[in-house]
Amino acid sequence: MSTSGITRRRLLAAGSALAASSLLGQHTQAHASVRERDISHWDLSTDALIVGSGVAGMAAAIEARRAGADTLVLEMQESRGGSSAMSGGVCYLGGGTALQKALGFDDSVEAMLDYIVAASGPHPHLERIQKYCEGAVGHFDWLVANGVPYTQQFQREKEFPQETDNSLYYSGCELNHPFRDIAKPAPRGHVPGVPGHGGWRLMQALNDTAEREGSKVLTAVTGKRLVQADDGRVLGLQVMRHGKLENIRARKGVVLACGGFIRNHDMVKHYAPEVAAVSTPHASPGDLGLGILMGMGVGAAAIRMHQAMIVLPTYPPERALRGIFVNRRGQRFMAEDYYYGVVGHEVVIHQGGVAYIITDADHAYPDNHFYPHIAQANSIRELEQSLDMPDHALQETVAYYNRHATQQADPLFHKHADFIAPIVKPPFHAWRMDASQDFAPILTFGGLLTNTDAQVLHASGDVIPGLYAAGRTANGLPQAPYMASGLSVGDGSFFGRCAGRHLATRQ
Ligand SMILES: Cc1cc2nc3c(=O)[nH]c(=O)nc-3n(C[C@H](O)[C@H](O)[C@H](O)COP(=O)(O)OP(=O)(O)OC[C@H]3O[C@@H](n4cnc5c(N)ncnc54)[C@H](O)[C@@H]3O)c2cc1C
Repeated sequence: MSTSGITRRRLLAAGSALAASSLLGQHTQAHASVRERDISHWDLSTDALIVGSGVAGMAAAIEARRAGADTLVLEMQESRGGSSAMSGGVCYLGGGTALQKALGFDDSVEAMLDYIVAASGPHPHLERIQKYCEGAVGHFDWLVANGVPYTQQFQREKEFPQETDNSLYYSGCELNHPFRDIAKPAPRGHVPGVPGHGGWRLMQALNDTAEREGSKVLTAVTGKRLVQADDGRVLGLQVMRHGKLENIRARKGVVLACGGFIRNHDMVKHYAPEVAAVSTPHASPGDLGLGILMGMGVGAAAIRMHQAMIVLPTYPPERALRGIFVNRRGQRFMAEDYYYGVVGHEVVIHQGGVAYIITDADHAYPDNHFYPHIAQANSIRELEQSLDMPDHALQETVAYYNRHATQQADPLFHKHADFIAPIVKPPFHAWRMDASQDFAPILTFGGLLTNTDAQVLHASGDVIPGLYAAGRTANGLPQAPYMASGLSVGDGSFFGRCAGRHLATRQ
């Protein structure tokens, strides 16, 4: 009986995996390329055709136009800006930007590079990281010159950038073990100096610049399929406009800047099944993977498609970081002062998606914040029982932690001394972080394989002439675990610019 139950369950699981891939097959076919000989005419033509009006697309448009190209941006939604306009607008920049210098921080290209390389996991994209770090000072100046406002104010506490008008903060794990010993720490989160959504302000500035300098933008136009010559060159794009298919010629090239695919559940289930249950897709409704599918439709390689940013916001305020995070077995599994993108990754990928914040009375996580307060007790033993943890597990964890915390030490995970305090004052509390039920923002990092000029590479490794990708349509600097806020907007804007410049100089 039980054997047939297991068999049936397995069959059901296999069936649903097949259903997911056949649905995905339909998506992929819908975006396969069209041959030039199969279209009868061109409805519009331009030099640079940019698909997507987020930060990558608008940065590409500005640079292509400045290099002399006629530039047209297409946006499938009625409004512009995509996820970029919803974002905090943090850009991860360093190496001695004007703002870092003005606020008295000493940073270098080498320190920034060492941090990103160390934080990027195995086999980082070294050339891309190097180009980015070497260009970061200039990129900050470019943002300023295009009208993005910054204040000369440093944010000391771990904060959401949008809750203040401060413009510089430690947005990643620079002060955490082991990074603080690998690379000289510096704050590199550069945020538009406006309260509220910095991303909206940043996009307003880039939009204004692009239009003032002559880029055209059409909204409610969806890119569907790339148009290719028989020799593989990308010549344009077939789009859906006012319910009709139209063909747009791109004399110099097409930039796919369509964001990632977190809003396409079939793609998420197929490419990133480990994160499919995470609760809160964190992107605009246009994040459907269409750029990646169009790229794959001309044979482009898509890489690291399982990678995602998963955030479990454990701060602000920082005080709960003086407690501990434990898994369902009552064991600590990481230093609590890590960037919340690392916490989300660790909980989802390594702890089965659920963990608890445990604090004493002095360091409670705020009520009615992101996580439910699920237990309160006058002893750790009672708390352990209410959380249904193995006998003595949480008691041992807290006793061991406290023994070292009284010396400001954390021999297991090396939490920074600023966040170490013994857990001693009752009542003791537990908050549940369940990535499938509680607030757990997620977006995808996998995308098209590009070179450092943002040219898209075929699965064979060759450049696909006339095709570029940037932002979350490409696999760029952000890797999982996500090691710093600002790497996505930073990478998207920087390599969007590279795409625009390179495309405009093509013959
Ligand atoms: C609330 C929030 C806060 C965030 N904060 C930060 C932060 O502070 N710093 C950071 O680095 N990252 C942040 N992120 C992530 C970051 O915003 C995104 O990863 C990044 O902006 C993606 O930029 P993009 O240009 O690749 O895509 P997008 O900005 O999403 O732009 C893509 C555009 O392409 C359009 N599009 C898609 N397909 C087509 C098609 N076929 N035809 C025409 N148009 C199409 C979409 O509608 C969209 O407008 C945040 C995300 C959110 C949601």
